[in-house]
Amino acid sequence: MTQTHVFDVIIVGGGGAGLMAALNASRTAKTAVLSKLYPTRSHTGAAQGGVGAALGNLEEDHWEWHAFDTVKGSDYLGDQDAIDFMCQEAVQSVYDLEHAGLPFSRTPDGRIAQRPFGGHTNNVTKKPVHRAAYAADRTGHMILQTLYQQCIRNGINFYDEFQVLDLLLQDGVTAGVVAVELATGELHVFHAKAVVFATGGHGRMWDITSNAYAYTGDGVAVTLRRGIPAEDMEFFQFHPTGIYKLGILITEAVRGEGGVLFNDKGERFMERYAPSIKDLASRDVTSRAIYLEVKEGRGIQGKNYVYLDIRPETVNLYAEKDGRTNPDGSPYRVTAEEILAKIPDIADFCKTYLGVDPVKSPMPIQPTAHYAMGGIPTDKFGQVVMNAQNTILPGLYAAGECACVSVHGANRLGTNSLVDLIVFGKHAGLKAAEYANGANLPNQQGDPTDFSRQQIDWLMNGSGKEKAAKLGRELRKVMSDDVGVFRTEEGLASAVEKVKELRERFKEVKVGDTSKIFNTELLNTWELGNMLDLALVTAVAALERKESRGAHAREDYPKRNDENWLKHSLALLDGDRVRLDYKPVVITKYVPKERVY
Ligand SMILES: Cc1cc2nc3c(=O)[nH]c(=O)nc-3n(C[C@H](O)[C@H](O)[C@H](O)COP(=O)(O)OP(=O)(O)OC[C@H]3O[C@@H](n4cnc5c(N)ncnc54)[C@H](O)[C@@H]3O)c2cc1C
Repeated sequence: MTQTHVFDVIIVGGGGAGLMAALNASRTAKTAVLSKLYPTRSHTGAAQGGVGAALGNLEEDHWEWHAFDTVKGSDYLGDQDAIDFMCQEAVQSVYDLEHAGLPFSRTPDGRIAQRPFGGHTNNVTKKPVHRAAYAADRTGHMILQTLYQQCIRNGINFYDEFQVLDLLLQDGVTAGVVAVELATGELHVFHAKAVVFATGGHGRMWDITSNAYAYTGDGVAVTLRRGIPAEDMEFFQFHPTGIYKLGILITEAVRGEGGVLFNDKGERFMERYAPSIKDLASRDVTSRAIYLEVKEGRGIQGKNYVYLDIRPETVNLYAEKDGRTNPDGSPYRVTAEEILAKIPDIADFCKTYLGVDPVKSPMPIQPTAHYAMGGIPTDKFGQVVMNAQNTILPGLYAAGECACVSVHGANRLGTNSLVDLIVFGKHAGLKAAEYANGANLPNQQGDPTDFSRQQIDWLMNGSGKEKAAKLGRELRKVMSDDVGVFRTEEGLASAVEKVKELRERFKEVKVGDTSKIFNTELLNTWELGNMLDLALVTAVAALERKESRGAHAREDYPKRNDENWLKHSLALLDGDRVRLDYKPVVITKYVPKERVY
C-alpha cells in the first residue's frame, strides 16, 4: 500500500547541505528530510581537513582574497558573482556553526584555529594563508553532528532510510517526490510545494575513489530523467593523496601542516610543477604532477604511487628551506606529538590500512576520484535553472555536492565544499520555505508512483543474462582508464561507446532477491543505473570539450582555450543521446589569466 504524506518543503539528503537547508526551511515551513542513510552516516562526516573562511584569526586575510583564490582555482570557470557571495557569507556561516555548538580546534587565546590548505593564499605575498577552520581532522563529522542535533532540537521530521526514486513535476512545477522505504520495500508519495536535492556526489563510478558507497549520483540522475540538465559534468576532481590501492583520503591538511611529496629518486618534485606554492598547489595541478612522475618512471619502485612524508624531521627540514614561519614570525617547527594531535584520524587510518605510522615512515599515495564539480544547475540561492537562459524551475532547489552553482568551476579548492554546504544549503532552505509559503500544492494528476514502479519492474523482470556486479566493475575500469586524470580524443570516444554498450547490457540485468525488506540488491542495481547515466553524460561532455581546464586535462588539447571554451556545459539525456548546450560564465571583476602557482 502506498502511503502519502504532505509537507511544504521536502529535503532529499541528510548530509551537511540537506541538514543546513532543513534547519533554515523549518523555521517557517513544514519540513521533512528524506535520507537513504541514517543522516549522520552521510559523507559529510568523512570530511577531514576544514572549512575555508577568511576569519583572519591567525594572520591578515580578507574574503576578497578567498574569492580570488577560488576564481583562480576554478581555472576561471566559476561564476564570480556566486563566488563573491559564498566567500562573503562564509565568515558568518562559520560563526553560526560555532554558536550552534561546533567544537572547533582553538588557538591558545581561544579563537577558532585555522590551517593552510592548497590554493589558499595571501594575495599580496602569494604565500599560503591560514584560512581553513577545523576541528582536528574531523571537521565534517563535527558539522554533521552539530547540525543533526540542532535539527532534532527543532523537531524536524526525519524519514531515515527512505530512498528517493523520482521527482514529481506537474505542469512544469515541482510537486514532490516518490521514495521507497528500505525497511518495508513500500513506496511512499511525498507531496510538497518545494523540494531541495542535497544528495551528494557520484565518485563511485571510478575504481580508486575516496567516496562513500552511497556516492552514486542519485539526485542528478533523478532530475536528469525528468528533463533537468546536468551542468559541467566533465569536471571531476581527482585528489592527489589517496592511500595507494585503496583510495581512502589522506587530507590535504597533511601538506598544510608541512607534509612533502617525494618520488622514487627522493626528489621533492612539486618544486618543478609549482615553484612558488610547491606541495600546496591546487589539486588538479598536484594530481597531474604525480601522474606524470609515475608515467616517467619515477613512481616508488617503478609502481604507480609516490610518497607523502609528514615525519617531523622532513617537515622541519623543508620548513627551514622554505623559510616557513608561524603567524607570529617565529620559525615553523613541529614535533611528532604536535602532528599526531592535528591529524589523529589520519594517523589511525595509516596504521590500520597500511601498517604505517606516518610520523615514522612516509605514506604511499596515489590520486583518487574525489569530488563532482558538476551537477544540478542552480543560481546562488539554490534555485534550479533549466537551460542556458537560466529559467527557474518553480519549487525545485539543489545544494551541496549534487549542485553546480557554479562556485568551483573546473576545479574545487580544498575546504570550499564545506563552505558551499553551509552557505548554499542555508539559502536553498530559506528560498524553498519562502516559495512554499506563497505557493499552492500542485494538483497531482495520474498515479505519481507510475515511473518508480516501472523502474523497479524493469530491474526485477530482466532476462538475467547480465550481472550488475560485473557491469559495475567494467564501468569503473572504463572511467578510470579513459575518463581519469588525463584524457584523449581516442580514449573518450571509446569510453562513450563502452558506456553505451554497458547501458544496453544493463537492460538484461535481473535482481535475484525478490524480498521487500531491505532489498539492497535492488537498490544497488538501481544506483548502478544512475551511475551509467551520469558516466555517459560525463564522457560525452569531456569528449566535446576540446581544451584543458582545471580537472579536465586533455593530452591532445593541452592548453586552456578561453576564446571557445570559457563556458559551462549543460547536458540533457534522451535515451542514448546526450544533447549538449552551453552557457556563459559570469565574469565580474577577475579577468581570466593563466594560472601560475
Ligand atoms: C573523504 C572525504 C574528505 C573530504 N574532506 C573535505 C574537507 O576537508 N573540506 C571540504 O570542504 N570538503 C571535503 N570533502 C568534500 C565534502 O565533504 C563533500 O563534498 C560534502 O560533504 C558533501 O555534502 P552533501 O551534503 O552535499 O552530501 P552528503 O553529506 O554526502 O549527503 C548526501 C545525503 O543524500 C542522501 N541521499 C543520496 N541519495 C539519496 C536518495 N536517492 N534518496 C534519499 N537520500 C539520498 C544520503 O543519505 C545523504 O544523507 C571531502 C570528501 C570526502 C569524500
